[in-house]
Amino acid sequence: MENHPKKEQTLVIIKPDGIQRTLIGEIIKKYERTGLKLRAMKMIQATEEKVEQHYLIDPEWVEKVGEKSIASYEKRGVEPPSRDKKSVGQKVLDGLKKYMTSGPVIAMIWEGNQAVGVVRKITGGTEPLSSDVGTIRGDFTIDSYQMADVDERPIRNLIHSSGSLDDAKAEIAHWFTKEEIFDYSLIAEEILYDVNLDGIAE
Ligand code: ADP
Ligand code: MG
Repeated sequence: MENHPKKEQTLVIIKPDGIQRTLIGEIIKKYERTGLKLRAMKMIQATEEKVEQHYLIDPEWVEKVGEKSIASYEKRGVEPPSRDKKSVGQKVLDGLKKYMTSGPVIAMIWEGNQAVGVVRKITGGTEPLSSDVGTIRGDFTIDSYQMADVDERPIRNLIHSSGSLDDAKAEIAHWFTKEEIFDYSLIAEEILYDVNLDGIAE
């Protein structure tokens, strides 16, 4: 049963701006009401080392972020500071270390059917200006690549969520010990997952 889709887990971090904007409750509500189950949650003051290790879990992340960043410059018709994906990505990482340690963050593990994809959908795309209406990043903040570039800082987009199942597994192990993760059932799981629905009618 461990591999059943309903057992999928993902990591969410409310970034320092999410806490400063007093959006903790709103953010948790968005994930909670999908039917996903909260398996762990804690507030932490992260160190720069912790943040760096977190983003380096995916060995291709630096280049991917650099590529995305160069593409965003090109889309706006602006010459990127460099065409070297690695160095552009490294600059984003350096900024993230400062941003993610500027105040406490809240880390959570959400579990349920295809949790990684469900959470990414609700989180929204990286840039709040262009992320979908109805998503957390789309509805609750207004940052953009353009403004982040002018001010030479990372995009402030309220939340981190794991990008893939492999990342989710490694990120959960990076932020939580086994003792911090709670195993319990939720009443709502009956209607979400019970195969025969034979426990409802009296
Ligand atoms: P996501 O958080 O949507 O998975 P990434 O993993 O690509 O996005 O990047 C991690 C974080 O780095 C983003 O959430 C954002 O805060 C910041 N970031 C990414 N790309 C850029 C960029 N080109 N300019 C500024 N900040 C960026
Ligand atoms: Mg990511």
